[in-house]
Amino acid sequence: MHSPESLAARLRGIGMTSQRTRDRMADRLRQQGITDPDVLEVMAREPRHLFLDEALAHRAYEDTALPIGYGQTLSQPFIVARMTELVLQLKPERVLEIGTGSGYQTLILSRLVSQLWSVERINALHQRAAERLRLLNVYNAQLKLADGGLGWRDAAPFDVILLTACAETLDQTLLEQLADDGVLIAPLKQPSGTQWLVRVQRRGDQFDTQRLEPVRFVPLLEGVIT
Ligand code: SAH
Repeated sequence: MHSPESLAARLRGIGMTSQRTRDRMADRLRQQGITDPDVLEVMAREPRHLFLDEALAHRAYEDTALPIGYGQTLSQPFIVARMTELVLQLKPERVLEIGTGSGYQTLILSRLVSQLWSVERINALHQRAAERLRLLNVYNAQLKLADGGLGWRDAAPFDVILLTACAETLDQTLLEQLADDGVLIAPLKQPSGTQWLVRVQRRGDQFDTQRLEPVRFVPLLEGVIT
């Protein structure tokens, strides 16, 4: 089911029908308040259905999160668009994503920033995402299987660090990998138990946290599953 052949075959099958569905998704994103034309253009162009198992592919452009196995989800289009918009506002060159998952957010970012690193802790998801991104000719993203809570020290500093799983606390190890004016964007669990998207701005040794909006993500977990 996940053999490269079947993915490649599905890739060759991208047709006009999908294009119409993607245009409708982009229209909906616009109505929901996404304004960045580059984000809308890339999401209208790139094949989100290839980031799901074939049985779920027909639901790829719905306004919903969808399962990708191992208890994980591909985020709904709106949240991918919103996070990408937030990242692009910073005009970053070097971006670290934590939680590759299906690789869809990685794909969208890779078309819009010059250099991207992405970490996933579940080997099967990491492998599958790597295969998809290779078939889609993504050359500016480096993927690794690791506990992203520790960041990617060898590639630091980053202009933006983006978490696509919800943290309970923000580790200093991660914050230290931001460039001097770098920004971390992450879902963060609040004392009340609800999740908020936060934006942490680094200025030298100072870190200013701003709450943006309530969100729902799967949890950031420790360790690697091979
Ligand atoms: N951006 C992804 C969202 C996937 S859900 C997509 O578009 O599909 C979040 C992902 O974060 C899951 O795949 C989960 O396994 C991963 N994750 C959770 N904790 C992690 C950690 N400590 N390090 C790396 N990845 C992690």
